[in-house]
Amino acid sequence: MHQPLLLTVEDIRRQFDAGTFSRGEDYARRDKVLDIGLDGDTMTGAVTGSGGKVYLQVIEISSGRRGIRIDGSCTCPVMENCKHVVAVLLASLGQAEAASESAPGAAVPPEAPGLPFA
Ligand SMILES: [Zn+2]
Repeated sequence: MHQPLLLTVEDIRRQFDAGTFSRGEDYARRDKVLDIGLDGDTMTGAVTGSGGKVYLQVIEISSGRRGIRIDGSCTCPVMENCKHVVAVLLASLGQAEAASESAPGAAVPPEAPGLPFA
C-alpha cells in the first residue's frame, strides 16, 4: 500500500502507551475504522466506538529531528491520542493484520563501538 507519510507501525507504537496501542490495534483488526482521509499531512478518520457510536479523528502528522510526531484529536471522551487515533493510523498503513503478536526483537543498537585501541 502507498504510504505518503512514510509512517511506520513503530512510529505509531512509540508515541502511544502500550494499552492504547493494543486497543487501537484491535479496533483496526476488527474493521472498526469506517473512513480514512488524507489532506496534506492531516489525516482524518471515522471509527465505530463502543456502543456503536461513531467518533471522528483529526490527526496531524509532522516529521521533526526526533522523528515522526503524531498529534491526534478525537470526538470521544479521551479527546486526544486515543485508541481510535491508533486504529486510524494502523488502518492507513494497511498493516492491522501484520502487526499481530510477532513481537519485534529488542532493537537496541549498541551505544558505543567501544575503544578498539584501549
Ligand atoms: Zn477516541
